[in-house]
Order: sequence, then structure tokens, then C-alpha cells
Amino acid sequence: MEKRGMLYEGKAKKVYKTDVEGKYIIMFKDDATAFNGVKKGTIIDKGIINNKMTSLLFTLLEEKGIPTHFEKMLNDREQLVKAVTIIPLEVIVRNIAAGSLAKRLGLEEGIKMDKTVLEFCYKKDELGDPMINESHIDALHLAEHEEIETIKDISLKINKILIEFFLERGMKLVDFKLEFGRYNGQVILADEISPDTARLWDVETDRKLDKDRFRRDLGNVEETYKEVLARLEK
Ligand code: 5GP
Repeated sequence: MEKRGMLYEGKAKKVYKTDVEGKYIIMFKDDATAFNGVKKGTIIDKGIINNKMTSLLFTLLEEKGIPTHFEKMLNDREQLVKAVTIIPLEVIVRNIAAGSLAKRLGLEEGIKMDKTVLEFCYKKDELGDPMINESHIDALHLAEHEEIETIKDISLKINKILIEFFLERGMKLVDFKLEFGRYNGQVILADEISPDTARLWDVETDRKLDKDRFRRDLGNVEETYKEVLARLEK
């Protein structure tokens, strides 16, 4: 397996072609951004932690029957994945009110939602990833109706699996963001699941164990990322 030219550089990851048809290599960086790139910084060793955590969680999800792009971890910062075409949607699953949901609907952060909330955002940096609904997705031809049904179904299954997994390790899964890709005509989970893309709170104290520590200048950012991985590896 050889790494070839870089295909794409995002805010937190680089994607490379490989000499193998249908496979990419993802490299996780330490760069951290928030508020659509307005706040920039570095979280030392974040790339290593997010690579390990995503590898661990995607392996768990595969074991539970969720199709993902994950093939294997190659080294501390790199993983081999299926070369999907990303569907330009961010799928947000919420169990507890926080962040933009709390703000938009005037809910107190920490209120448990009576039903799981599922949101779609249009993945477009220059627009700040605006929230859209299924009618917009249809009108803009972002995904087929059947693909959206699959995405909703998989997202809710992932939520069930991860709520239990994190709870067993002392963490509440508040909310998280997923991305999906097309591969051989199938919709599969892509991107990452990490403290960059999920809100995790300590089950006893509600201490924030995720990127909100960076976004809101709460301190102990690096230590917290390390702590989350340590809890998962136990
Ligand atoms: P909110 O809409 O409250 O800002 O975010 C909801 C959840 O989705 C949070 O767990 C947040 O980390 C994740 N999320 C939403 N949009 C993005 C994004 O553009 N990038 C990343 N890394 N996570 C996001």
C-alpha cells in the first residue's frame, strides 16, 4: 500500500489517493477550528486521538452491522478507508439540548430531549453549513429519497449503539455529527466520530469532555481528549 497525491485538505484531515483502486488514506491533523473557521488553534496530539477513537468506534459499529468506510488503522495518524464520494450533508443526532439547538429553540443546555432529534445541514463552508430539510435535499438533488431513508435509519441505529457504549464508560452522548458517502451504489458511514464531532459529558458531573472545551475556552483541552480515549480503551 503506497500513499499517492493528496486529494483534499479539510480543516482537521487530509485525504490521499493510494496505489490501490477504491482505497484512500485519511491523515488526522492537530488543527482545530470553530465557528466556521473564525477561531483557529492547535490541540496537541488531537489527530492521534481522533484517529484512534474513530478506528475504535467504526470497528465497533461494523461489528454491530453498520456499514462504514473504515478498513484499518495504518499508524498513529493515518487510516485506510474505502474511497467513498461524500454526500454533502452533515447529519446531526441529538439526545440532550446543547449548542445551536439550545440557542435556536431557547432550550436550557442539558435538557434531555423526549425524542431523538435528527437534523440535516448542507455541507458548504462558504454558507456556514446551513440547516436544511428533506425537501431542500430533494430539490437540490443532494441525495435520493431512498438514500435519505437509509441515512436516517443508520443514524438512529448508531445513536443507540453509541449511547450505550459511552454510558458504560461514564459519558453521556449529548449530540454528534455524521457524514455519509456512496461506495459501489451503497450509502455507508464516512468521516469520523471523535470529541471534535460529538458532545460528551461526564455522567456524574456533566463536565464537558469534547471540543466545547476549545470552542468555549474552558481549558484542559488536550488532557480531556486524552481522558476520553483512555476511557474508551479501558
Ligand atoms: P451544534 O449544531 O450544536 O453546533 O453541533 C451539534 C453537534 O454536531 C456537535 O456535537 C458538534 O460537534 C457537531 N457538529 C456540527 N457541525 C459540525 C461541523 O461543521 N464540524 C464538526 N467537527 N462538528 C460539527
